[in-house]
Amino acid sequence: MSAAPEVVPERVAQERAAPHAAGRWRIGGRVQGVGFRPFIYRLAHEHALTGWVRNHGGEVEIHAEGPAERLRRFGDVLLSRAPPAAAPQLLRALRAPLEHGDEFRILASSSDAELDVRVPLDLFTCDECVAELGDRAARRYRYPFINCTQCGPRYTVIRAMPYDRPNTALAHFTLCDRCQDEYGDPLDRRFHAQPLACPDCGPRLYWRAAGASIEGSEAALAAALAALREGRIIAARGVGGYHLMCDAANEHAIQRLRSRKHRPTKPLAVMVPWSGPDGLEGARRVVRLTALEAAALRASARPILIAARALPGPLAESVAPGLRELGVMLPYSPLHHLLLADFGAALVATSGNVSGEPVVTAPEEAEARLAHVADGFLHHDRPIIRPADDPVVRVIGGAVRPLRLGRGSAPVEIELARRATVPTLAVGAFSKITVALAWGERAVVSPHIGELVSLRGRQVFAQVAEDLQRLYGVRAQRIAHDAHPGFPGTRWARESGLPAHPVWHHEAHAAAIAGEYPSEAPLLCFTWDGLGLGSDGSLWGGEALLGRPGAWRRVASWRPFRLPGGERAAREPWRSALALSWESGLPWPQGERLSDPLLRRAWERGLNAPITTSVGRLFDAAAALLGVCHHASHEGEAGMRLEALLGDAPAGSAAPVAVPLQRDADGVWRSDWAALLPALADPQADLAAAGLATASVAERAQLFHSSLAHALCAQALAVRRETGVERVGLSGGVFQNRALCEQAEALLAAEGFEVLIPRRLPANDGAISFGQLIECIAVGEERA
Ligand SMILES: [Zn+2]
Ligand SMILES: [Zn+2]
Repeated sequence: MSAAPEVVPERVAQERAAPHAAGRWRIGGRVQGVGFRPFIYRLAHEHALTGWVRNHGGEVEIHAEGPAERLRRFGDVLLSRAPPAAAPQLLRALRAPLEHGDEFRILASSSDAELDVRVPLDLFTCDECVAELGDRAARRYRYPFINCTQCGPRYTVIRAMPYDRPNTALAHFTLCDRCQDEYGDPLDRRFHAQPLACPDCGPRLYWRAAGASIEGSEAALAAALAALREGRIIAARGVGGYHLMCDAANEHAIQRLRSRKHRPTKPLAVMVPWSGPDGLEGARRVVRLTALEAAALRASARPILIAARALPGPLAESVAPGLRELGVMLPYSPLHHLLLADFGAALVATSGNVSGEPVVTAPEEAEARLAHVADGFLHHDRPIIRPADDPVVRVIGGAVRPLRLGRGSAPVEIELARRATVPTLAVGAFSKITVALAWGERAVVSPHIGELVSLRGRQVFAQVAEDLQRLYGVRAQRIAHDAHPGFPGTRWARESGLPAHPVWHHEAHAAAIAGEYPSEAPLLCFTWDGLGLGSDGSLWGGEALLGRPGAWRRVASWRPFRLPGGERAAREPWRSALALSWESGLPWPQGERLSDPLLRRAWERGLNAPITTSVGRLFDAAAALLGVCHHASHEGEAGMRLEALLGDAPAGSAAPVAVPLQRDADGVWRSDWAALLPALADPQADLAAAGLATASVAERAQLFHSSLAHALCAQALAVRRETGVERVGLSGGVFQNRALCEQAEALLAAEGFEVLIPRRLPANDGAISFGQLIECIAVGEERA
């Protein structure tokens, strides 16, 4: 696949006589591990220029010389024709003295390059490789591990940096002669493709089911497809771990998957075949896509996109019961392309893990841990060095927002406005754990790990923490952790032997936004989530913090209430509803039936009934009061169901209930949720009083969202009157709720606030590790 020079010899001869010029370019952005240097090499040959290209401190430096006109044309297409997986940014373009070289060469990395390591991300299978995969004449026809310099696994196969084949999971696959030729030819699109492989020398598939074993990629694939067509569940090893897969149109298969995985209602992601001119025809059969969502689905991370379900559609209702949205993704590895193309319809593709744990990566582990779930195993023999779940995104407020970092999207790299003079590691909170590392002006955030409750969770966590430091060549000298003393990450930090710095949960949320949108101006950050330990010993979750990293002050919150059963309430929304009912004296007969008399007495005495201001629990209460969710089988279910009720009604179409706002003795503005209860709790008795005699459940859900958004804006206005603050951040899991987030943003913007919503990191606890870094760096500086 050599690119033929487009310049004809006569013209070259004429131009050789023309005066020569030289240019030098510095290119930043995503240019590592994406075939950018070979691209420059081919481009220079195409334009018959001499010079060189090399890696330099994570950037690419180019020197090219030749006739001025050709040099200009070369400069014009340098960025525009770059490989699809690259995202180059021009940092500098200068004229340079002539070096009079006789050819164009790829130079070894400059000596300081290792100081500035960029770990490349896993890349989706590029269009050229997909085309080859289906080309009967190609030697990699239907080869499940086809890749090139622009695509294939990266982060999940790298053992050590620099990113060279001996440092990857491919090291023990010796290249055959033909692969070796491609690897060594600068004009080949597989020049220096580190995971290069072919059917003769590379990894292969094998199948295991009920003691039987089938070797060979094509036979294993056929066995897997037969199982899927029979409605069975398979575990398939992919890029960052195993998926559990079954026919997404087969209600029976999905019910079996749900009962075996003890996951009665949590929505399951589906993978759809790549089809049609833009590849999205399969996706459009199951979800409705806006232009922005279509772009998000095809983006380089190839994420799971949460989008509106197409109804009626071909999928079983039980993929996402009771919800109007669905997580959908495109095939991103050659194996997935083959599976989906052969199957010809959507497959459920959910993480192959035990609930809350990191995704399983190794064959023996999969067969041991997923034995009760999968009927068969589609394995391969290319090791996965560290797990990476599929990333998840959702369009909120006109932008694509990550809900989970993972394969292809992490490690996320963020430039620090304040230098980390002491290399710092941060370990996150309790759930949705990520690990983050800061040194100098850089911070990196790992893919989603999960919870640390299980042994496997803790093992993966320890490995990722170690790997991040090793890959980037940085040793942490202190560890930031959640201030909650009982979290596993807190214990790990304290046992590490390094100085451990506790960070309050909601200050970490606020600092995460401040770190993503650095500014000298103060920030008012709403940190609404489930529960986190607050500095007054109560469980926060509805706070507004004012200030800057290292110096936050709580300025607004909600009326506190006691939560019967404490943290159990997260899975039992009826407890939150009962708490509000008891606290405000408004009867909720259904709640009393779910409770027992002892609970009331314990609550009255404050036994196992911690005080909270959590908005997440207000969502739970609303869902229970409206009768849509009394018990949640997964975190956030009540809020998701409540949001699903809104349907297609435009945000803010319901008139809000006026939520009283008053200052407490400490000067904190507090909104009183009690005003919301009549509209939620008892439709028979109280609706007329609320002016809602005919309101449906959907309208009352709408009213709840709308009232919260207005209460938020009222708090912001009250704080602005006193302090003049103009920047408002929205952080915490509650703001994954699109209706609330968009309405709050609109109200704030209408009042002239600058509104900041997380864009590079999730709004949920996945960003806590990064926030802990920002907070720890700022506090360290103040002390210094
Ligand atoms: Zn490719
Ligand atoms: Zn080969």
